[in-house]
Amino acid sequence: MGLYNEIKEIAKVFQGADNIELYKELLDLASKALELQNENTKLHEENEELKKILDFKGKIVKHDEPYITIQGENEGIAYCANCWERNAKLIQINTVANGKFACPDCNTKGVIDREKYNRSKQTYIY
Ligand SMILES: [Zn+2]
Repeated sequence: MGLYNEIKEIAKVFQGADNIELYKELLDLASKALELQNENTKLHEENEELKKILDFKGKIVKHDEPYITIQGENEGIAYCANCWERNAKLIQINTVANGKFACPDCNTKGVIDREKYNRSKQTYIY
């Protein structure tokens, strides 16, 4: 039921007993309990997020170009190295036909497929 609701239940008893001062104090306490519950939920979520980041940290594979992949995950999925290093965010990068990529978040650019990139350059030479 949660601390907030429990305190409110107790407060009702004192309201009925005409003890307004105590009733008010209990309501105040209930709202503080609610704040703590919300804070607790927020910290719990942050903790989960940090655990996930820690788990990923050991599996990050860096490349010469500014992108990363995750060991054990689909090799075709790559993430922006800049976003990971700055904010510990995994932003999947968009690849384009000529082998280049761009991060949709920070716009970091690079070459993800060297072979395709070289081929696209050759066509310009002819
Ligand atoms: Zn990025």
